[in-house]
Amino acid sequence: MIFTRSEQEIMRMKRSGTIVAEVHELMRQHIKPGITTKELDELAENHIRSYGAEPAFKGYGGFPASICSSINHQVVHGIPGNVRLAEGDIISIDTGAQLEGYFSDAAKTYPVGKINSEAQELIDVTKQSFYEGLKFVREGFRLSDVSHAIQTYAENHGFSVVRNYVGHGIGTAMHEEPQIPNFGLPGKGPRLKKGMVLAIEPMINAGSYDVHVLSDGWTVVTDDGALSAHYEHTVAVTEDAPEILTVC
Ligand code: MG
Repeated sequence: MIFTRSEQEIMRMKRSGTIVAEVHELMRQHIKPGITTKELDELAENHIRSYGAEPAFKGYGGFPASICSSINHQVVHGIPGNVRLAEGDIISIDTGAQLEGYFSDAAKTYPVGKINSEAQELIDVTKQSFYEGLKFVREGFRLSDVSHAIQTYAENHGFSVVRNYVGHGIGTAMHEEPQIPNFGLPGKGPRLKKGMVLAIEPMINAGSYDVHVLSDGWTVVTDDGALSAHYEHTVAVTEDAPEILTVC
């Protein structure tokens, strides 16, 4: 079932979301050539815990860290480690927090130093595809109207939409119903209702949409080795414009 949340619950999710947004601001400040993804993870975990919140990803299904750090052709679920970022890389950071029982989740792809124009376009189109989907996060639209808008925008720019991983409802668990594909025909699925809270997260590839999981059991990479980018916010359906909860 798809939950609808009271205004009070959404306020609590927004407090959790603010922490996640601050972590992204920290990431933006620290992502530079030479830093390791483990150092980024420590910054994120310390920031989340400084509020008495819990890093939502750490221990989830056995995941060992507070951020997913996915570099270049890595799509999602990369594990932080001793790899140092290099000039020209792109890195997707996905992170979540749980505060007083309420979850929030957001992802962004960052440039490391100076990147080439194709990588920048992929980042920009991925972000904008989220905002194209967001236009349909309103009462009365159906869930796949969001999916279709994301897919249409990304494909019109020559990129492909990952099929194997999707967005999700979020609230008192990190992953709730419904699943939110970033592709599909419009006019299908549940009608959106005030109080639904959705983590919408296009994962967009520069090459084909086929992906596989590395032998570490987590890291998802593109089959063709082409770049991938990710953009996600936790969003509440209201009676008017949608409210992004992962902002500071
Ligand atoms: Mg998510």
